Amino acid sequence: MRKPVIVGNWKMNKTVSEASQLLEEIKNLDLDSEVEAGVCTPAIDLLVAKEKLEDTGVNFGAQNMYFEESGAFTGEISPTMLTDIGAKYVILGHSERREYFKEDDELINKKVISALDHGLTPILCCGESLEEREADKQEDKVKSQIEADLKDVSSEDIEKVIIAYEPIWAIGTGKTASSDDADKMCGFIRSIIEDKYGTDLSEKVRIQYGGSVKPNNVVELMGKENIDGALVGGASLKASDFESLVNFNK
Ligand code: PEP
Repeated sequence: MRKPVIVGNWKMNKTVSEASQLLEEIKNLDLDSEVEAGVCTPAIDLLVAKEKLEDTGVNFGAQNMYFEESGAFTGEISPTMLTDIGAKYVILGHSERREYFKEDDELINKKVISALDHGLTPILCCGESLEEREADKQEDKVKSQIEADLKDVSSEDIEKVIIAYEPIWAIGTGKTASSDDADKMCGFIRSIIEDKYGTDLSEKVRIQYGGSVKPNNVVELMGKENIDGALVGGASLKASDFESLVNFNK
């Protein structure tokens, strides 16, 4: 059985004082312990997350990192900086990083390998644009991303990776993929993993859907066979919504 995993991606939101307030609210939520929950905050909020979420069962992580441990890489944060403060996750290959910061699959692959080498859980994002979906190219796009981003990831490590299928046209737009379409794509991603790592391992990999997940659609999405969780932007910024998302089973 794959443990459901709901993670908030705060993106570039919440100053330290705002984060402190939201994390205090999250700390006091009554969350389903059968669901793995986490928040990926801006780097500057990570220490506050560490402090506030201690002993709550809610994990925290970053939204990006560089693959090197230290050195002359101005503006970057490293895997060792993240593990040093107890971060669990790092989101890699988010479409906003790919689009606005021109991150390519080669770089994302280096980051995935580095995250795994340091014991971090990469949340690897993939997904097609509206143009690609309209041209029925969503599978080609996602396949090429997954194959390139997971290059040289070992059989021992693959089950530690969380994959987030995020159709770009559904992110922050209020448009959600239909639960059947999302399930189909998550199933397709599982088949790519199966081809490379075999059935047993592919059954262990958790695949999230992301794209305008809200309290009013999470139950339907999470009811689908191949959807093991959600990566949530906007709706994770309100404690009561985050609670409804994590408690989708209650
Ligand atoms: C995201 O940030 O990964 C995301 C899916 O955002 P939203 O839930 O706001 O669409």
